[in-house]
Amino acid sequence: MAEVVLAGLGKAYGDGTRAVTDLNLEIRDGEFLVLVGPSGCGKTTALRMIAGLEQITEGTIRIGEQVVNDVPSRDRDVAMVFQSYALYPHLNVYDNIAFGLTLRKLAKTEIDHRVREVAEVLELTEHLDRKPRNLSGGQRQRVAMGRAIVRAPQAFLMDEPLSNLDAKLRVQMRAQIARIQREIGVTTVYVTHDQTEAMTLGDRVAVMRRGVLQQVGPPQELYDRPVNLFVAGFIGSPGMNLVSARLDENDGRFWVSLNSDALLLPESVLRQRPALREYVGRDVVVGIRPEDMEDTALADAREGEILHSVADLVEAMGSDVLVHFPVDVPPVVTDDTRELARDAGTDDLPKTSGKGTVLVGRFSPRTRI
Ligand code: ATP
Repeated sequence: MAEVVLAGLGKAYGDGTRAVTDLNLEIRDGEFLVLVGPSGCGKTTALRMIAGLEQITEGTIRIGEQVVNDVPSRDRDVAMVFQSYALYPHLNVYDNIAFGLTLRKLAKTEIDHRVREVAEVLELTEHLDRKPRNLSGGQRQRVAMGRAIVRAPQAFLMDEPLSNLDAKLRVQMRAQIARIQREIGVTTVYVTHDQTEAMTLGDRVAVMRRGVLQQVGPPQELYDRPVNLFVAGFIGSPGMNLVSARLDENDGRFWVSLNSDALLLPESVLRQRPALREYVGRDVVVGIRPEDMEDTALADAREGEILHSVADLVEAMGSDVLVHFPVDVPPVVTDDTRELARDAGTDDLPKTSGKGTVLVGRFSPRTRI
């Protein structure tokens, strides 16, 4: 196991495409770090540079004590798990897992011991004789994991290892990867475009955009304290509402003006963010998490709690109901709909709220802005 340190890392491809710019990251020994960002942001390129599969244009990569810039991939002692699994089709599960150890000419008994141990952890013992074509997607994925684990490398590098699985299996395997990584404690760099995967797996999450690192931190920190609009919009599902508004101060209280309505900011927001005072009287973009708006009965609503809008879409998802309100572009989403259902006079939620339903809402005391 080892720490992986990227310093001033950059990559320009031969055709001039700049894939990664000045990437600085210290991945701690045993840490699970997730690199996340939209398609084309450079995360795979960064991972491939760590693996030694891509030449570095600028900067250095250190794994443990060694700067590996000029160390060939096979000598870096890292194991990569690809989206495609890259299993050998003509070898059975046992030989696929054993492959790296056989190459290193380990004793047969040692190989056998390690393969069976890993197969046990990954629940592959009964499939050891099968060829990859006779396995399910999830089983193939576990074989690919097994091949990486069995080598006991200094670091795991994973590139979207779950993206070929169906939604249910993806959630199962996600939990399994988290468990295994915690059990064996290997430093792991995991690439995904899926922010839910990033949030659930990462000890820390590094968000990239257009080759540039935007923010790195524990998942909750990114969720609560995004450093810019990109991270604010990227992290969280459903996404944060980003609405153009004005911040006003009146009688020592702070208001967010949206269209013709003004919502009162709870004291708690100001306590957390005293710097908000600097924005009074200015046009701002307000980011409101869906769960940070509460609905209230119209009769109970006080000044500063009414936001007029008509729901234009209701999405029932079982545990949550998402209601979209076009306050600005993009629409505000809230996941609290008791009032809507009451207004409609039915237990069934309407698909749209129809004529003139008023969203009566206040910021919840937990609101983060
Ligand atoms: P995805 O999630 O779609 O795989 P990514 O974030 O992993 O995207 P990369 O594959 O690292 O992104 O690509 C980063 C940028 O570099 C993109 O603009 C891509 O088109 C470009 N790129 C990747 N490989 C090459 C290459 N071999 N030659 C030229 N440009 C490349």
